[in-house]
Amino acid sequence: MEKTSRIYVAGHRGLVGGAILRRLQAEGYTGLITRTSRELDLRDQAAVRAFFAQERPEFVFLAAAKVGGILANSTYPAQFLYDNLMIAANVIHASHEHGVRKLLNLGSSCIYPRLAPQPLREEYLLTGPLEETNRAYAVAKIAAIELCDHYRAQYGSDFISAMPTNLYGPGDNFDLQGSHVLPALLRKMIEAKEAHAPQVEVWGSGTPLREFLYVDDLADASLFLMERVSEAGPINVGTGQDLSIRDLAQVIADAVGYTGALVFDASKPDGTPRKLMDVSRLRALGWEASTSLHDGVARTLAWYLAHRAEAL
Ligand code: GDP
Repeated sequence: MEKTSRIYVAGHRGLVGGAILRRLQAEGYTGLITRTSRELDLRDQAAVRAFFAQERPEFVFLAAAKVGGILANSTYPAQFLYDNLMIAANVIHASHEHGVRKLLNLGSSCIYPRLAPQPLREEYLLTGPLEETNRAYAVAKIAAIELCDHYRAQYGSDFISAMPTNLYGPGDNFDLQGSHVLPALLRKMIEAKEAHAPQVEVWGSGTPLREFLYVDDLADASLFLMERVSEAGPINVGTGQDLSIRDLAQVIADAVGYTGALVFDASKPDGTPRKLMDVSRLRALGWEASTSLHDGVARTLAWYLAHRAEAL
């Protein structure tokens, strides 16, 4: 990418697209192209075609998706499947038709089989059944990887796929029903502290293991991959370390300064027992995460407190 390249960040209002856009702006890229979902519905093939014909992007960061936590995924599976399939098919095909020089497709660690060996290596893709609570989303994300790989094979398109682990950071969704665990617990602990509430409710058993990557680290990895890597197949992006939901809740309680009790609500789903990324492929290519969970949580907490009104 040159500083004046025409670069489309799809999904720039979201957690990932927002971080990528901030990073590109900070590095002085001037040809940045964005559209809100109201301006451009990426599920609409004709609209996407017209947009590509008009803007002629040279590079595409595909960070647009319908995303959500465990409850949202299991409540709206039809939407998670349809929206994400349509977004991926339309953007990837339009990128092919309009001669995009390189596209980075962003997915998720939930593409891997529920009971795959840990840590999750890229070659475990499509070797077993998926986790039920996010199967619809995962199938759409797997389809997007397949599109990139088959367009590479058949047309020579330079389309690559990065699979980040669970992400968090500034710009996340803090809605308690729809969000992922880390922003949900941050908000719950802040509100419990303010209300002097004796306890905070944590969903599930607290035993599932999750890995968390600070979103600015993913933005860094995304630029690295865009500049240096042209290979088929998913490329895992993570820290290589995980912790239990119970331990995560404690890290967040400490950051917030909440000293009440944690109660576990067994009526809520645990989801997959563990999904730790094997990050040796990306490490061998020359990239590693740099933000510790402690620092990332502190920065996310500071951001949330400063942007609370609009984040709600
Ligand atoms: P997942 O990684 O796809 O399972 O998505 P989540 O981030 O939504 O959930 C991760 C784990 O955290 C699951 O075991 C949840 O049950 C657990 N969890 C605990 N408390 C919460 C909460 O308040 N919100 C969410 N979304 N998950 C929670």
